[in-house]
Amino acid sequence: MLLRSKWQNNFIWRFGDTLGPKMAKPKHLKHSPLRPCVNHFSHSHPLRPIDQIQAEDELICSGCGLEVTGRTFICSKSWCDFLVHKSCFDLEFELQHKSHPQHTLKLLSTPPHNYSRKIYFCNACRDYGTGFDYHCKICQYDLHVGCANLPKTLKHKDHQHLLTLYYSFTSIKDSIQSFVCDLCGQNVPNGIWVYYCEQCDFGIHSRCTIPDKY
Ligand SMILES: [Zn+2]
Ligand SMILES: [Zn+2]
Ligand SMILES: [Zn+2]
Ligand SMILES: [Zn+2]
Ligand SMILES: [Zn+2]
Ligand SMILES: [Zn+2]
Repeated sequence: MLLRSKWQNNFIWRFGDTLGPKMAKPKHLKHSPLRPCVNHFSHSHPLRPIDQIQAEDELICSGCGLEVTGRTFICSKSWCDFLVHKSCFDLEFELQHKSHPQHTLKLLSTPPHNYSRKIYFCNACRDYGTGFDYHCKICQYDLHVGCANLPKTLKHKDHQHLLTLYYSFTSIKDSIQSFVCDLCGQNVPNGIWVYYCEQCDFGIHSRCTIPDKY
């Protein structure tokens, strides 16, 4: 896998001294010792905090599935490509979410074992997820960590007013029969999250505000 090997080259360049005495130590790292590793519930190896990740290739967060930039925790084992955003490392283990007020959601590092194909479907956007999952065991309710942290109101570049988050289009108004996303033009099934401006009847999928898929 090209990405993996390039990433490993980069890793070796940056952290050569952790890989054994034969590897040359980059000069600029000689007097700046690596920060100590920390453990995280989501991974069996210790993770090392990095202030600014640098790589030629796009690196994907093992938690949220989005591209990794800035502060990151990466696996201390050279052969393991696990890494997470600092923001994903810092996620709350339990979440009381307004979209599912009846139960507390628990943060899982991977979809529950009883889910087939090791994926879950997010109740907010209906896209699948393979990494971190805010999960209600009783209801089999799942949220991407990104969806769980969507803001209540949002300014979108394609609309002049603030948009408000609704957990289904019928919660805007009971009488609404169908809802078409004003950005992608697709029909929005009831029960998935939308951002809406009541003044202009402008509404979009919550996922159409996100730069890339989770
Ligand atoms: Zn992440
Ligand atoms: Zn690892
Ligand atoms: Zn989602
Ligand atoms: Zn529940
Ligand atoms: Zn859309
Ligand atoms: Zn508006």
